[in-house]
Amino acid sequence: MSYLKISVMKYLLALLCIIGILAMVLTKSKSPPYEPGHIEKTVKCKSDLMERRQLPTADPRPVLYVVTPTYRRVEQVAELTRLGQTLLTVPHLVWMVVEDADACSPHVAALLDRLGIPYVHLASAMPAQYRSERYVPRGVSNRRAAMTWLRDQSPQPTGVMYFLDDDNTIDIRLLEQMRHTKKVSMFPVGLVADYLVSSPIVQEGRVTGWFDGWIVDRQFPVDMAGFAVNLSLVMASDALMPYHAGYEEDKLLRAFGITMDEIEPLANQCTEILVWHTKTKKNQPPSLRREVASHPNSNIAALAENMERIAMATT
Ligand code: UDP
Ligand code: MN
Repeated sequence: MSYLKISVMKYLLALLCIIGILAMVLTKSKSPPYEPGHIEKTVKCKSDLMERRQLPTADPRPVLYVVTPTYRRVEQVAELTRLGQTLLTVPHLVWMVVEDADACSPHVAALLDRLGIPYVHLASAMPAQYRSERYVPRGVSNRRAAMTWLRDQSPQPTGVMYFLDDDNTIDIRLLEQMRHTKKVSMFPVGLVADYLVSSPIVQEGRVTGWFDGWIVDRQFPVDMAGFAVNLSLVMASDALMPYHAGYEEDKLLRAFGITMDEIEPLANQCTEILVWHTKTKKNQPPSLRREVASHPNSNIAALAENMERIAMATT
């Protein structure tokens, strides 16, 4: 073999190696971070469901399981108080509050106990690998833990599941409507993206498309608060929400294998907004140590202590 041929082959080999390495790097960085292989740990804090027997078995209405992810921050107790007091007015409802934390927080437990609402309190921290993602899949580990609880632990695995974030706002009439969901019901959500609404398009009583500012390649471009699912679908599969920011709803609904014909449009044929994707301004917890010291013999020390207890201040 000539010297020239050998050097050409060397170059070709080197080129092939480089292409191979590049392909490996690219496919790795392209694969979405929702593959299993991380540690998911759920802590069951307390279930008030069986202890207080607050769900009368004689009530023929389907039970509503409202799943609310939450995490420690200055606004948390305000959000949970507002939402909890709304849900309190709805009978035959179980509030599944799942903290993004390694353990359950005493201030969340106290709030749930005080409200007297039938509840399930869990904690399931987001696996660390997702925290550093460009788009963090917020509330996913929490919702997955709730679905697993419903499958494995629920004493009454019939009813309807609905995801409602702790900062959202809901009209209780919608909760009554979605209670009767046969498979999957859908409805408009206000304050979403550019149109300030995300909604199914309904024609002659059937869902035929989507009115949403970010459809991209989603088959079901809906907001997290825009659909409710009958538990029979949850029980019939082991589908879980993927750790894929932006695609959580779409991929879960796809995994349930629903068709457009099966979607039940609510909120007066999707003409009314009865739930809103409200957002609360975020604040930093202040350190009140110096202020406490400068107001001795007053209420301020106890006030700051109580604020610290509910994650509103550091002292
Ligand atoms: N959440 C969580 N862990 C986080 C951030 C958010 O459990 O690190 C919860 C949050 O309490 C809410 C849901 O996940 O119920 C969606 O989060 P957020 O409201 O921040 O998202 P956005 O509405 O802006 O998409
Ligand atoms: Mn939110």
